[in-house]
Amino acid sequence: MNDESIDVLIVGAGPSGCVAASYLHNNGYRIKIVEKSLFPRFVIGESLLPRCMDHFEEVGLLDCLKNIGFEVKSGARFIKGSQVCNFDFSKKHTKGWDWTWQVPRADFDHTLVKELKTRGVNIAFEEEVIAVDFEDEISKTTIRDKEGKHKVITAKYIIDSSGYGRVLPRLLDLEKPSELPKHSSIFTHVKDIYRPKGNEGTLITFDVIDTQTWLWVIPFSNGVTSIGYVGPTEFLDSFVGDTTEKLTQMLRHSDYFYKRFENVEFLFDPIHIKNYSKSVKQLYGKGYVLTGNSAEFLDPVFSSGVTFATESALLAAKLITKELQKETVNWEQEYTEHIKNGVNVFASYVREWYTGNLQKLFFHRPENPQIKKQICAVLAGYVWDKTNPFVTKHNRLIKTVAHLIDMENDTIIED
Ligand SMILES: Cc1cc2nc3c(=O)[nH]c(=O)nc-3n(C[C@H](O)[C@H](O)[C@H](O)COP(=O)(O)OP(=O)(O)OC[C@H]3O[C@@H](n4cnc5c(N)ncnc54)[C@H](O)[C@@H]3O)c2cc1C
Repeated sequence: MNDESIDVLIVGAGPSGCVAASYLHNNGYRIKIVEKSLFPRFVIGESLLPRCMDHFEEVGLLDCLKNIGFEVKSGARFIKGSQVCNFDFSKKHTKGWDWTWQVPRADFDHTLVKELKTRGVNIAFEEEVIAVDFEDEISKTTIRDKEGKHKVITAKYIIDSSGYGRVLPRLLDLEKPSELPKHSSIFTHVKDIYRPKGNEGTLITFDVIDTQTWLWVIPFSNGVTSIGYVGPTEFLDSFVGDTTEKLTQMLRHSDYFYKRFENVEFLFDPIHIKNYSKSVKQLYGKGYVLTGNSAEFLDPVFSSGVTFATESALLAAKLITKELQKETVNWEQEYTEHIKNGVNVFASYVREWYTGNLQKLFFHRPENPQIKKQICAVLAGYVWDKTNPFVTKHNRLIKTVAHLIDMENDTIIED
């Protein structure tokens, strides 16, 4: 195999890798994506946030996605027993996209890579990064193809967008345990033959079983629906049987959806991902940057994964471009701080979801329209808007409002 020398090597062709590649290719750099799988390939992460539309638009990948006809997502519904909380992205505090999609990721990601290939981006499928050496900033990455042959790619930068492959975190000892509690998920796709007509059938819904556990229902435009159960690792481990038996038992916990999914066939054996939250010691180093899930993953409850994957990829690509143009980049400030600011907002929401405080806000009646708009902007992925107090005071405000709700409830009981 021939060795190569390029500007930027991108590891992984998920949304993160594709957005970075598109930006750099549009700006004329010599890049290559190395992707372990053959596309289309399955990956979880099917509910997008409006914020990621900005990223796809900016790098010229939106039109190819629009042509597919994915299910439009213009909000999200949370239900708990008879209580319902609907978010409508058109009624959010921050200006920006008020819709996005619910997507089978195999098709979504395949659309992105096909578009990049058409534009001449060099993508090698079924080739895997197995080792990397740095001489100052210049990297020499060893790639193994499906026949087991090796080659070396020399690059000025590596963007690690390898998702749960977590290539550089493993090779450079950057892994760090997540500070979030250990949660896991079991999920599959079903042919949704009992799907109700209209919005009721296609609305993305999170059925809150109790403070710790919930079920996602993500209908796609092709008649298939993604269902997944989430909860503490120990609790999920307490179910007996194989993953099909486990998920079948879990579905019984959902009064709302049990009938709809009771007798439908699972399209593949449910997948069990244990302790899905991931973190790293640092997001960049000399000659490399981590984006998407390779850097950090919190929790699926607010569907922030793909949006962080594209936000970080686009920013990483822009900063690399700056450096290749001999401008100085302060990676700590311009990359880590920006990404961490957003991650920290969502991390507070995730934490407060599982303490029950955020659920209190969602289901409290009457709703406070101002608070609803501000939280809605966060759920749409606009977590860098400094005019939104539910962004700037993320670590205090949810607790405070939940406390006020408790006090109000106590007063009502005393009355
Ligand atoms: C249970 C669960 C539910 C989720 N639900 C949602 C959701 O509803 N919405 C959402 O936005 N996010 C969700 N996520 C998160 C989502 O899966 C990820 O955030 C998203 O896929 C990250 O995109 P990425 O481009 O970083 O990585 P990926 O899309 O995972 O792509 C990484 C690519 O790298 C390739 N690769 C790996 N190792 C190597 C290697 N050694 N060499 C070359 N290539 C390699 C892989 O084959 C893969 O194609 C969920 C996650 C979990 C665990």
